[in-house]
Amino acid sequence: MRYAILAEIYRKLDATQKRLEMIDILIELFDKTELENIRIVIYLTSGKIGADFEDLDIGIAEKMVIKAIAKAVGKSEEIVTALFAKKGDLGEVVEAFKAKSTQQGLEAFLTDGKTAAEESLTVREVWETLNKIANLEGKGSAAKKINTLVGLYAKATPLEAKYITRTVLSQLRLGVRDLTIIEALARKYCTEKDARKVIEHAYNVTSDIGFVGEILARKGLEAVRQIKIQVGRPIRMMAAQRLPSTEEILEKLGGKCALEFKYDGERVQAHKNGDKITLFSRNLNDISTMYPDVRDALKASITASKAIVEGEIVAWDPQAERLRPFQILMSRKRKYDISEMKEKIPVKVFLFDLLFVDGDNYLLKAYPQRRTKLEEIIKEEEIITLASQEIVTNASEFEAFFETAIESGCEGVMAKDIRETAIYQAGNRGFLWIKHKFDYSSAFADSYDFVVVGGFYGKGRRKGMLGTLLMAAYNPEKEIFETVCKLGSGFSDEDLAKITKELMALRTPEKPKEVASKLEADVWFYPTKVFEIRGADLSTSPVHTCALNEIKEDMGIAIRFPRFIRFREDKKPEFATTTKEIIDAYKEQRLLKKEKKN
Ligand code: AMP
Repeated sequence: MRYAILAEIYRKLDATQKRLEMIDILIELFDKTELENIRIVIYLTSGKIGADFEDLDIGIAEKMVIKAIAKAVGKSEEIVTALFAKKGDLGEVVEAFKAKSTQQGLEAFLTDGKTAAEESLTVREVWETLNKIANLEGKGSAAKKINTLVGLYAKATPLEAKYITRTVLSQLRLGVRDLTIIEALARKYCTEKDARKVIEHAYNVTSDIGFVGEILARKGLEAVRQIKIQVGRPIRMMAAQRLPSTEEILEKLGGKCALEFKYDGERVQAHKNGDKITLFSRNLNDISTMYPDVRDALKASITASKAIVEGEIVAWDPQAERLRPFQILMSRKRKYDISEMKEKIPVKVFLFDLLFVDGDNYLLKAYPQRRTKLEEIIKEEEIITLASQEIVTNASEFEAFFETAIESGCEGVMAKDIRETAIYQAGNRGFLWIKHKFDYSSAFADSYDFVVVGGFYGKGRRKGMLGTLLMAAYNPEKEIFETVCKLGSGFSDEDLAKITKELMALRTPEKPKEVASKLEADVWFYPTKVFEIRGADLSTSPVHTCALNEIKEDMGIAIRFPRFIRFREDKKPEFATTTKEIIDAYKEQRLLKKEKKN
């Protein structure tokens, strides 16, 4: 399959914002793709070269790409950089240079005796070369990466060069999300009504849409139904909804629920396969090397030979015998000096779920069964314990447990459904888990995880830096980010310098199509970074697009007096606070205010 076909499809996807059109274009793509290429076509179209958990970072910085372009088109780096400053997108820069040089070189090329088709790139060749670039390591690897990229450019058409560039910079940004691919796969290969659900389940279990897509294309839906959990391959994680009042939570969960401490650390999914322990983060990255202490402890503590369990890794103060905050744990996360950091910042793991044990899939079993089995296979020791849990049936028991959780240094509590239907909802945020944090009960204030989508330059002391950021909530139904506030306080100057540097690398020349905004930002960012912020309360707003028209015509919902709390590097933008959560919080606040008045 020629890469030119893929580039043409990307051009079409780039030109639309409509999900239905995207699905049609993807179906056209699958029509044109041979079976042996389905998997890599899916990865490439998602802007990747493999599944998320494979940790295949192409690892090319802007500066290296500028060098490669300069070499490939025979211009100086200064000229390339100047055009980049104008266009704001290196993909367009290389496209423009190539378009010029292709025309000039056309005659010489044709008299060379080779036809264009013989020389042109295949999808597999591009994918293999990108893998090669990703795997180059060590001394001299930067130069090798650049030269390999120059080799690709030499064979690429202007349009191909544009998309290759965006891919190596992890900036393909076609707006094609996993659920859109699933929908297109279902329509292309299946007639069964439940196809989308079956594919989605297989995706949740394997976290690899390329793998599932290939099985579907080659063997059909029945084979996808048979896809089993594999120890060592992460399962997409279940997430929690939120509700502000204790009463509402109890009611939603049928009057009785399991309450657990909500530990403030890093989620971990641990896979044990004999002697081997692999740890995955919330974003499905392999974090095994960062926590050798956790691995050793889990190896001894899990008595089953194969198992997948989940818990929270939390920083621990052995002198005070107390939990420490999230920031302390994050300061331990680094690639070097791991053994030194291990001594400096000891951790504990609080296990709260079991997904698989010795051949048995526990995903569809009710939570109490999962917890009982977890208790059975875990030998508690110094580092590994089970999450504190109590079954509560009324508001006063709830409040008492909540108090204990806060006193113990937790963020709040997790209320969990314990009815027969309380399965592990892989990859979903549902009401089977409901989080309840401290601030809700004190006032209308709460913390949220929002995504940075734009920025405004600062004045005075903040000149030259970003002074205010445009923040957005995620709307999973529309797969877009909707603005909720302008964030300008709570940062130290140090934070601000860090933020400016990191965000500038993510800027896009225009507003990304995944962003809905009525405001014109000075700079736009592709939705990538998640920040936790705290707000005083919520109000309707004519300038923000979050929950537009949901409460009042032409009005959205905004967070008032937002303050930056911390970076959430452990969260992907899709894990940000959702529009629906904002609507629910707004409605709840309105009710509470009414009650107060009465
Ligand atoms: P949030 O990140 O605010 O959506 O809250 C959900 C997160 O709370 C999960 O991803 C876990 O990392 C964390 N957590 C802490 N304690 C628990 C618990 N007992 N059960 C489930 N999740 C927990």
